[in-house]
Amino acid sequence: MKKLFKADAYVSSIFEITPEGLKKRGIYGLILDIDNTLVATHIKDPDAKIIKYIKSLNDSGIKTVIVSNASKKRVELFCEPLNIEYIFKARKPLGGGFLKAIEKMCLPKEKVAIVGDQLFTDVLGGNLIGIHTILLKPIDLNEPIPIRLKRILEKPFLAKRHFQDKF
Ligand SMILES: [Mg+2]
Repeated sequence: MKKLFKADAYVSSIFEITPEGLKKRGIYGLILDIDNTLVATHIKDPDAKIIKYIKSLNDSGIKTVIVSNASKKRVELFCEPLNIEYIFKARKPLGGGFLKAIEKMCLPKEKVAIVGDQLFTDVLGGNLIGIHTILLKPIDLNEPIPIRLKRILEKPFLAKRHFQDKF
């Protein structure tokens, strides 16, 4: 069984994950978190670099779905310029949102990865349903208090991680 609090890969930014690297690992679908994964939590819209990045994944045959715990309004607004499927209020680490996303992709779960910035939300949730998990460094550590507390709890699990995996 997979270790629940260990990701399969650690990267320092979303842009280090390439279509070639995903395919090398047999992955054709990528579930994306928004906050602190694609943009800082206070940023409402995706920037040009993110729009281009998601398009490049899709153009290379990687399916993408956003799965976020944020509100309908936040997620809808963010996803509009991306032209991407999404699930809001996903209640990660519960697996329901991920399973819906995998269904939308029409892929077996072995071919799907989740990428996010939180060990106890994104990685735990992905491990619970047995998909590939990628943890990245949060974009901005100026976060709300409950998330800062989670960061303290994450520390012992991340002590030996270098966030330098190559895709
Ligand atoms: Mg996040």
